[in-house]
Amino acid sequence: MKIILIGPPGAGKGTQAAAIREIYPAAHISTGDLLRDNVRRGTVPGLEARRYMDSGSLAPDDLIINMMKDRLAEDDARIGFILDGFPRTTAQAEALDAILSSMQTGLDAVLMLDISDEDVVRRLSGRRVCVSCGAIYNTVNRSPEKEGVCDSCGGAVIQRNDDHEPVIRRRLAVYHADTAPLTAYYDKKGLLRRIGASEAPDAALLFLETLKGAI
Ligand code: ADP
Ligand code: ZN
Repeated sequence: MKIILIGPPGAGKGTQAAAIREIYPAAHISTGDLLRDNVRRGTVPGLEARRYMDSGSLAPDDLIINMMKDRLAEDDARIGFILDGFPRTTAQAEALDAILSSMQTGLDAVLMLDISDEDVVRRLSGRRVCVSCGAIYNTVNRSPEKEGVCDSCGGAVIQRNDDHEPVIRRRLAVYHADTAPLTAYYDKKGLLRRIGASEAPDAALLFLETLKGAI
């Protein structure tokens, strides 16, 4: 299973990726997670990407493409992958086509998660994450038992720098300008499937049904 998840920030790409992995073995590859890991480790690409991430703009294509070339060459990606947050520009989509054809493989589907901008702002401004294990909380209906402390690992639960409203709005603008055009790119190839993402997270179930029908 080789699929791409496209959708605005906060559409629930990570949640959907986890749900898909329950039925199809595949590596979940999130460029956002890879970048944050590089930032934490203080690598050269991490240091370069950081200022883009904090302001809500996209990191440079060549940085992302090189990172993904390496990641897709790893063993676990051979059985299948779910790309979450990549590609985000036409240049990245073209580079991915070239990488996959050099690996003599291709894509099975591109799932586009539809959600309104206002729903995104509401979701992301309440989102909190554990810096140690990545567990996701929110201020509306899922706070950790002890304020600021992760229920599963005891790590610090924080608001991501880019989950403040002005940065969320900027990420949405970037999404509409640079990433939304990819829907036409993949539609032309006959790979695009649209999925409503405004419902609560248990929409994952509905989503799985859609997916089974689509592939
Ligand atoms: P979200 O999907 O919630 O916006 P991510 O965790 O996927 O957030 O990405 C966080 C940040 O990392 C982005 O705002 C951007 O700066 C950078 N980033 C992630 N993926 C890419 C990509 N494919 N191309 C360029 N920048 C990226
Ligand atoms: Zn944790």
